[in-house]
Amino acid sequence: MKASVREALEKGEDRRLEPWALRASRSRGRLHPEPEHAYRTAFQRDRDRIIHSTAFRRLQYKTQVFIRHEGDHFRNRLTHTLEVSQIARTVARALGANEDLTEAIVLAHDLGHTPFGHSGERVLHRLLRDHGGFEHNRQSLRIVDFLEIRAEGIRGLNLTHETRHGLLKHGAPPTRTEHPVPWPEMSRAPSVEAQIADASDEIAYNNHDTDDGLRSGLLTPDQLQEVGLWREVRRVLPHADDPRILQREAIRALIDRMVTDLIETTRDRIAGCGVESPENVGDSEERLVQFSDEMHEGKRELARFLREKLYEHPRVLDISAGAGQVLSELWAAYREDPSRLPDHIGDEASGESPERVTADYIAGMTDRFAVEEHRRLLGLRDPLILLG
Ligand code: MG
Repeated sequence: MKASVREALEKGEDRRLEPWALRASRSRGRLHPEPEHAYRTAFQRDRDRIIHSTAFRRLQYKTQVFIRHEGDHFRNRLTHTLEVSQIARTVARALGANEDLTEAIVLAHDLGHTPFGHSGERVLHRLLRDHGGFEHNRQSLRIVDFLEIRAEGIRGLNLTHETRHGLLKHGAPPTRTEHPVPWPEMSRAPSVEAQIADASDEIAYNNHDTDDGLRSGLLTPDQLQEVGLWREVRRVLPHADDPRILQREAIRALIDRMVTDLIETTRDRIAGCGVESPENVGDSEERLVQFSDEMHEGKRELARFLREKLYEHPRVLDISAGAGQVLSELWAAYREDPSRLPDHIGDEASGESPERVTADYIAGMTDRFAVEEHRRLLGLRDPLILLG
């Protein structure tokens, strides 16, 4: 019998990938076993299921740093996710890691984010402090394992163990949070593919937040001169009269430096410590996917600059405070009268605590839905506009 396209793809992985890379043909499988697909590997199917999910489409209307009122050409969680994916696939391909698995992990990595970025996450974590807390990585797993509806009789997207495992940055299983299906068995270190997703996330947000900060006028090119990495790329760039062109060239050069540094440092580390299988990677004490010490320091300085000058800019803090108020008041309104939650929420949540069900509902909202719901329930004007 002629080999299927999928079998040919799996053979291609055996030829192309390094011995420590995870292979679709050796996946530990899904919680509910399914027959293999004729045209796609197990990890390609994971990726496709994530793209077709409702939570993925909602990323478009969730904030990265800037709230929607600031304008249409800033990043949102969807464009952030696509930028991370582009970077991570380049890194995975260059290193001989599994590109499809890396892509699947990246596309799902931010599904669990609340509306209004990290300020929303902090508020939900505070409200849930006696009920297991809230953390967006665990919420991403909750979405793909449980909250997405895809097939009769099976909750969630039924992804492979490797993608599920890759979504958890921190190995510890939840202590008090309910997770209604078996938790992925954790190794000491994440797979190389998951580590690539993580490092690529950092490269993407450090650069696009700098870019958005400059576009918005909250950051100026003069301020950025205090950042070593920025000075370095500016020094080697040709002069351009148009500041917009300079900005784009500088961001592009910064991304390229970080990606190149990550690939080269990681390649050396992997060669140096002799890992020969995915199991070796899982057992290793240290992360294999790393930047050089020099780049690590440079990135730290840039991250500190962004925190002080952008994330803690009075304008951003004002918006965050308004966002926190919207979510706290929504929480209080639902907890006071649970019949305010849509009917299907209660029906699907058998055995879950009312606090967790409420948190799932709020965390799943887009920024604008949260504002509209707040207005509907509380009859108030949008506090984000009031603060603007
Ligand atoms: Mg991210």
